[in-house]
Amino acid sequence: MRDALPRRPIAILGSTGSVGVSTLALIERFPERFQAVALAAGRNVARLAEQVTWHAPEVVSVADERAARELHERVPEFTGRVVAGPDGAREVATCARAEVVISALVGALGLAPTLAAVRAGKHVALANKEVLVVAGELVTEVARAHGVALLPVDSEHNAIFQALQGHNRAEVRRVVLTASGGPFLHHDEAALAGVTVADALRHPTWKMGPKITIDSSTLMNKGLEVIEARWLFDLPPEQIDIVIHPQSIVHSMVEYVDGSVIAQMAIPDMTIPIGYALAHPARLPLDYLPSLDLAAAGTLTFQRPDRRRFPCLDLAYRALRAAGTMPAVLNAANEVAVERFLAEDIAYRDIPAVIAAVMDAHEPVPGADLETLLAADRWARAEAGVRAADGSTRRAATAS
Ligand code: MG
Repeated sequence: MRDALPRRPIAILGSTGSVGVSTLALIERFPERFQAVALAAGRNVARLAEQVTWHAPEVVSVADERAARELHERVPEFTGRVVAGPDGAREVATCARAEVVISALVGALGLAPTLAAVRAGKHVALANKEVLVVAGELVTEVARAHGVALLPVDSEHNAIFQALQGHNRAEVRRVVLTASGGPFLHHDEAALAGVTVADALRHPTWKMGPKITIDSSTLMNKGLEVIEARWLFDLPPEQIDIVIHPQSIVHSMVEYVDGSVIAQMAIPDMTIPIGYALAHPARLPLDYLPSLDLAAAGTLTFQRPDRRRFPCLDLAYRALRAAGTMPAVLNAANEVAVERFLAEDIAYRDIPAVIAAVMDAHEPVPGADLETLLAADRWARAEAGVRAADGSTRRAATAS
């Protein structure tokens, strides 16, 4: 007996992260529509083991051989292939049966497998913003050449993608990305200087992983999203604006040449953009989620971002204008600075300082290929490590 309807086969890069887990929850809710055929995770083998037991994918990849052995021990009955390392992630990304690849690995790690998926002709639902931040020009060029769709999962870009449906792209005046403003929207300079890791990890509206939560508090997340929007929607930086909207109800907007603004609104739940990307062009009946109750929400507020208190925004626009390898350098320096902050090696205010110092020391290479972009990424990581150590040494010396 054949299934009445073909189920869309999905591969997930980053299955144990927050987007991966939400994607699998949707697949579990709509087993008649979707099937998880390949999963790539890192070291969270306990969670991956549960996913493997439930979904029985054809191929699973983990960080290394040790994690692969642990997976075998936890699910000895699993008969699918278990692969490891970067080659393993690539195998998941290019799995013959997958039609759509969810790219949700955190950081620049997701770039090579995502590019492999695009080259293999897979439609890619992009949750990893670094893919377009680091290699937007390259990835969108390859996607065009292979006729594959890049479907945005990020709530803002998904909102813009929705607001563009049925409209003429030539009539877009600008797009406006909304930003929650993060937990420090009302902090002055002195308060920002005293921000701890625990403070920064408390996000008011979205539940996300630690790296993106810190990025959202510095507004670098929004900066990276500006770069992402530039490539997804083929718009110059001047046509991409940001407005702070703490309630996270309006997920972004498109303004057309006649002044009409089309916004997408919904409760802040990643299930909605993930579902839209998975089922596109259909919409999933997510009737188990609460309806948006605007009367209960009461007041929706909007304000301009403060670029002086949140310098990461201008750093991102600066990287976009410098182009070539500069966005890759911005991204890598930010990843290292955030790691060092999370490890309590540097202060919160050092995050933009480290990134700016690394960018100052970089001469961007235009029209870069993957190797050049990855080399710039490696250089920026090393350079950021040095700058971060300089800062912490300085502070230790001052303190003693
Ligand atoms: Mg977002």
